[in-house]
Amino acid sequence: MTAPAARIDAGLAAELLPTLRAFAIPMPTRFRGITLREGALLRGPAGWGEFSPFAEYGPREAARWLSCALEAAAHGWPAPVRDSVPVNVTVPAVGAEHAYKIVAESGCRTAKVKVAEPGQAAADDIDRVAAVRDALGPDGKIRVDANGGWPVEQAERQLKALSAVGLEYAEQPCATLAEMARLRRRVDVPLAADESIRRAEDPLKVRAAGAADIVVLKAQPLGGVRSALEIAGQCGLPVVVSSAVDTSVGLAAGVALAAALPELPYACGLATMSLLSGDVTTDPLAQAHGQLPVRPAVVDEEALAKYEVDPAGWRDRLLAAAQFLPLRS
Ligand SMILES: [Mg+2]
Repeated sequence: MTAPAARIDAGLAAELLPTLRAFAIPMPTRFRGITLREGALLRGPAGWGEFSPFAEYGPREAARWLSCALEAAAHGWPAPVRDSVPVNVTVPAVGAEHAYKIVAESGCRTAKVKVAEPGQAAADDIDRVAAVRDALGPDGKIRVDANGGWPVEQAERQLKALSAVGLEYAEQPCATLAEMARLRRRVDVPLAADESIRRAEDPLKVRAAGAADIVVLKAQPLGGVRSALEIAGQCGLPVVVSSAVDTSVGLAAGVALAAALPELPYACGLATMSLLSGDVTTDPLAQAHGQLPVRPAVVDEEALAKYEVDPAGWRDRLLAAAQFLPLRS
């Protein structure tokens, strides 16, 4: 027998609205086109929740992110089946020497290497990935992430060349499901869908299209930990849990998801605290030796004070998103 679904609706959003705090944390390097991570935090009987949909998401989309925050604050998460989760170090599209240094200093045994950067040559990707292999040694795992940047033919060429170095998988090599499916028939490297999954029904579409071997799931855009677990189960493909560039409060939801999955065959993309210049807690969920501990994050008033901003805009966004709760499917 399964536990009754936790109540997540507009009434709960209204109850927790008075606890809302807004933040804006600078980012040391531009990522996803932003240099400032903005969002809100909610507090409830179970702890803190993060509501930080990116600016381009309207209320219907933001409702999923709100559902995740409300779950964290009001209900907490399903019981973990492990007490730490392995994570990957992320290597931006930097030069080979810098890439080597990032990986060697990280202590992680899995590296995610950004490739297909606009303005760079194919050889730049190959040099960067080779340097990462040197840093990891033969036992380390390397995944590349093209963020949908390659046409099919180029993806095929590059993945075949990079295979010589040994790839765990390639994340979103092409932009569309049709391209991903076409590429998948031409290469041996497993493909993971990331940008193709932005809403709850997408993982099922990815599978139906034969477009990927692996899906990248994030707790906030999928409506919370329970919702993401359900989607993972329905989809039936292996899952990589990743973050949406959250503070430690949001990361804790990703960690809870990774901790509750029955199988966790891949290191998670949750070591993203380094993308932010600061955090809202004094005890950030930062990786050590390639692992993150399974625990919630507690907001520290002094830490939050450094980044706190006027909450008026976020109150409005929350109320608009709450109209789309409870989530249907
Ligand atoms: Mg990605």
